[in-house]
Amino acid sequence: EDEAPVAAKPGLLDRLTGREPEEPRRVMDDAMLESLEELLIEADMGVDTATRVAANIAEGRMGRKIGATELKRALAAEVARIMEPVARPLPVYAKRPQVVLVVGVNGSGKTTTIGKLASQFKAAGKSVVIAAGDTFRAAAVEQLQIWGTRAGVPVLTAPEGSDPASLAFDALARAQADGADLLLIDTAGRLQNRADLMEELAKIVRVIRKKDETAPHNTLLVLDATTGQNAVMQVEIFRKIADVSGLVMTKLDGTAKGGVLVSLADKFGLPIHAIGVGEQIDDLAPFDPEDFARALVG
Ligand code: GDP
Repeated sequence: EDEAPVAAKPGLLDRLTGREPEEPRRVMDDAMLESLEELLIEADMGVDTATRVAANIAEGRMGRKIGATELKRALAAEVARIMEPVARPLPVYAKRPQVVLVVGVNGSGKTTTIGKLASQFKAAGKSVVIAAGDTFRAAAVEQLQIWGTRAGVPVLTAPEGSDPASLAFDALARAQADGADLLLIDTAGRLQNRADLMEELAKIVRVIRKKDETAPHNTLLVLDATTGQNAVMQVEIFRKIADVSGLVMTKLDGTAKGGVLVSLADKFGLPIHAIGVGEQIDDLAPFDPEDFARALVG
């Protein structure tokens, strides 16, 4: 394969500490604390989280000289500490079929993530059914069919423009009849008309509960790392319109380091079930707090 040399992503603290491991040795003072806060805000951590993280790092170090290595380690440790409690794979319940509703704005990577999840669970010996619930977007339905074929998983579709709740109901009936382990339901992501979307999601939930009153067992919100702090607003909105139980963050393979995940963990404490690290079917990884922290700090 043609491997282009990958330029190392610049480190988050380079501007503060220089790129040499120990230079310059600066005294941790108010000015340095402020610069640190600014860098963390620029890294999408949000003001509140950035302020808290910077303060925790400065604690016990004020007035002391601090080198780049120590600062990086301290930041990585602080980020990992915040992320540790939210790093949880998608729980698998004894309940069959486990119904997973997948929500998020269009373009966030819902369809791709469903394909990847289906493939992973299939490979782990689970039987999976996909419902192409974004019945208004023919392209999304087609895309899911392609993913389903690749993963070897049936994809249930409905005519364009038809009621997603009715498709979800039929899909659950099929999954139950087949004794499937997992039903993944795609949903629309048009935030332009929030009231409609809310009603659509509520109806899906209402209707599938006629077949299984404990469903959905998970509501996954898919977020795009390249949208930065915007993801915070998306979590706020989707928590109002659906009972979000966990997050997947996509596109962490690009230049976005996902600093927003730190503020999401700090603010909402929702589990991060997986991260998207590419466009291929195997490009879904468990969320590892230490790897994440190291990559973020650089
Ligand atoms: P949806 O509208 O939410 O269903 O989003 P899609 O699944 O169609 O994804 C939108 C675009 O993002 C597509 O071009 C995907 O290939 C791409 N994409 C999704 N996840 C990832 C990821 O983890 N990394 C990268 N680089 N691209 C992704």
